[in-house]
Amino acid sequence: MFGEFLINKNLISVEQLEEALSVQPIAKRKLGRILVELGLLSQNDCDSALEAFLGVKSEKEFYSVISERNDQSMFVKLVIGLEAGYLLLRSPNVLYLSRFTDRLVQEAEKHSPNFEVKILTFEQMDLLGRMVQAPISETKEITLVSEPSAPVISGPTPYRELLLSLLSKAKSLNASDVHFDSTLDGLAIRFRVNGDLTTVKTIKRELSQSFLTEVKAQTGLPLTVIGSPCSGAARFADLHLKVRAQSNGQIHGETIVLRLIDEEKTKNATIDSIGADDVFKDEIQKALGASSGLILMCGQTGSGKSWTLYSLLMAIDRQSSKVITIEDPVEYEGPGLMQIEVSNGKITFDEALRSSLRLDPDVIMVGEIRDEKTAELAFKAASTGHLVLSTLHTNGAIEALTRLKGLGIAEDLIESNVRLISALTLRKRLCENCKIAVDTELVSKFSEEAISLAHSEVQFFTRNVHGCSHPDCHQGATGRVLMYESINQSQAREFRDGFMNPGFRSLKQCALERAALGVIGIEEVSNV
Ligand SMILES: [Zn+2]
Repeated sequence: MFGEFLINKNLISVEQLEEALSVQPIAKRKLGRILVELGLLSQNDCDSALEAFLGVKSEKEFYSVISERNDQSMFVKLVIGLEAGYLLLRSPNVLYLSRFTDRLVQEAEKHSPNFEVKILTFEQMDLLGRMVQAPISETKEITLVSEPSAPVISGPTPYRELLLSLLSKAKSLNASDVHFDSTLDGLAIRFRVNGDLTTVKTIKRELSQSFLTEVKAQTGLPLTVIGSPCSGAARFADLHLKVRAQSNGQIHGETIVLRLIDEEKTKNATIDSIGADDVFKDEIQKALGASSGLILMCGQTGSGKSWTLYSLLMAIDRQSSKVITIEDPVEYEGPGLMQIEVSNGKITFDEALRSSLRLDPDVIMVGEIRDEKTAELAFKAASTGHLVLSTLHTNGAIEALTRLKGLGIAEDLIESNVRLISALTLRKRLCENCKIAVDTELVSKFSEEAISLAHSEVQFFTRNVHGCSHPDCHQGATGRVLMYESINQSQAREFRDGFMNPGFRSLKQCALERAALGVIGIEEVSNV
């Protein structure tokens, strides 16, 4: 590294380097600058040492490299600053680019004969402090396309292999997300399984940037943007997996989160895939049988409402009905659906909904009712012969009624159009192999509501957080099970009159029933 280089050149002592390194975490500046500020190195010595260390002059070079990959070939596109006396190529991934080095240098020199070509690592670039992109007018593009048959280029890098093995493992564990979080020590890789994060691997700091770059290259995230929010998407055909990627900067480096979408699960979705009991399935079928009206799924993020809504759409005959979805972003791609994405910022939910109504749909799915305009249009569509499906970000079904009124929808309109409002939440399904029976006298510690049941000889269980050897068991759970509460049209009217239908079963009651059946742990009841 640069510090050792300075010691070898007799410009600073080991003690001076240690002093500078000790203030670096606080000063958050380049080592050279700290040494100059501490009076341990002159600016001139620092500049010439940096030039000698990097083998280039540290001035006025602008560059950027965009590398892309598709199924047939891999190519590297270079955008090169033309002002400099020589040319810099920033390598997004040294390992990946090293296969191209000779051809890259040749091509670049051919296009810009007056330039001397250098390839620098991220760390070297960082030392130069040149993490900027050239203005387009001053740049020139060179595209190197590899022959599809060139085996040396199409072969996977160790980083790619690592990513693929992580994704494969995540899929086998039924993980919903994979997190790559830069920390002080390196990179923490975690899976979200059954709603909980588990660390599966850590990567040393020296390797983490190259690996993150490979993750970005593979998941459609821009390689040249560091520290700003970005999104990307990719498909891993061999794994039958789609991935939606989000990245952002934080104080220790970058954070990337991959949302995993299992293509096989998506393709085979039916009403049965939501994990509901027969009562709930009947309610859904009945609501879907209506030719118009509104079906609402409510719950927090991660409550299973998007998946439930998608499964509902898959239960509709899409040959004889035109089904349009408006989503931010499209999460599951379904056959026979016209899916409109509003996440690009060019169009809002209400604008997309208004234009969709002109496309003569039978069924419209609106990803979320967030504002008054969308709520108004959704009810307008529902009351003019369309079946509208949507979600609301509320905890309960009764709360959803209040929320709709808060969004300016008249009670009459709600009562005449609501077919079904369901609130959902997911709870861990106990592993039958290792669940632990809870003594009757201990039940009250977990749930007040369960005490009388426990005294009438209902056996409750709790999760064995250490798990067992059963292949489906992850920390004592085998996936998750759906809890729900529902209000149908006639119940919506009763709530207005202040009359509570004895048939209404709350989320908590639903959870208590599941716990009494030993499907979920008793500890899951109190927080519903
Ligand atoms: Zn188990």
